[in-house]
Amino acid sequence: MQADFEKTLQERKAEGLFRERKIFSPQTDGLVDFASSDYLGLSQHPLVKKACIEGVERFGVGSGGSAMVSGYHVAHQALEEKVAEFVGKERAILFPSGYGANLGIINALSNHVEGIFQDKNNHASLLDGAKLSQIPMRRYLHNDCHSLRLKLQGWKHKKVLIGTESVFSMEGDIAPLVALQEMLDVEQHLLMIDDAHGFGVLGAGRGCLQEYSLSQVPIYMATFSKALGGVGGFVAGDDAMIEMILQYARSYMYTTAMPPALAWANKAAIEVIEQTNVVDQLWDNIRYFTEQVERLGVCCEPNQSAIQAVVVGDAVRAAAICEKIKQQGFLVGLIRPPSVPKHRSLLRINVRATQTKKQIDGLLRLL
Ligand SMILES: *Cc1c(COP(=O)(O)O)cnc(C)c1O
Repeated sequence: MQADFEKTLQERKAEGLFRERKIFSPQTDGLVDFASSDYLGLSQHPLVKKACIEGVERFGVGSGGSAMVSGYHVAHQALEEKVAEFVGKERAILFPSGYGANLGIINALSNHVEGIFQDKNNHASLLDGAKLSQIPMRRYLHNDCHSLRLKLQGWKHKKVLIGTESVFSMEGDIAPLVALQEMLDVEQHLLMIDDAHGFGVLGAGRGCLQEYSLSQVPIYMATFSKALGGVGGFVAGDDAMIEMILQYARSYMYTTAMPPALAWANKAAIEVIEQTNVVDQLWDNIRYFTEQVERLGVCCEPNQSAIQAVVVGDAVRAAAICEKIKQQGFLVGLIRPPSVPKHRSLLRINVRATQTKKQIDGLLRLL
């Protein structure tokens, strides 16, 4: 068995796909961070840190159990209420991770739908959710409503779940959410939107439902782990939908609830978004970045989101460029298969509120 493992690992190295974790400390290494998803810099915000410390002092470190047994604290309840109101839904439920939230939604609804249709580029957590729940899955062409319509027409069953990301996590492009909502039949089709990269960014921070006036979308999922600078996922919807997830999601029941201090910090992060101009600062930088990309003719398709991608193609070449950029003092994300299709390795550039125009200029000059 050991020889098999070694062979597999050697093959991965030869393909340029071997992953190495580097200790991430941009501040101490003096690197400008264009890699983390902490778009608003809230993981370092004084009020968020203060809330986390206060949370530890009030509630301790761990939650102590599943939310169904002893892990549901007043901090969780407060965050659920806060986030539901913030995104404009009746009710919300928290998960320790966004990954678990996606597994839970699909799992909880699996006895009520006969299939799940997903965008070809959907996040692994959505795909894994379908596999784990053993519901038949079909994948439609990326951001292509026509492809989805054809697949739905060819499907003998009626009730289906349709899942898409809002802002796609690898390339930062945005799904045709309004067109999707309009083409679906509310009697038969349940639309779920994973807004991991839109929450805290779009709709003045309230997410894609606010940005595109999508009040009819029944299942809204997002995470506190990206723009909110914390950890954990949540689902928001009407009372019955959230109750279904609470009663039936195995990834809710059989896992320890998020640390209450983190729930407290996540709630403070929402308050910072409401009360300060951090989201405006981010958009100021996104606008500057995309304008400069057009002006300089950088090989990057500008997105109306915090994620900008430079598609390189070959994995080995992408890794080499990433390393060169790092030597010049900038950290960008290196994205390779299986996160993207073969021959579509890319540099993921996350625009963040705390970057200066000079730092953005510096990176663009290198590109
Ligand atoms: C990061 C991410 C998740 C998972 O969220 P975690 O909180 O990191 O587990 C789910 N969906 C998308 C699109 C993501 O980018």
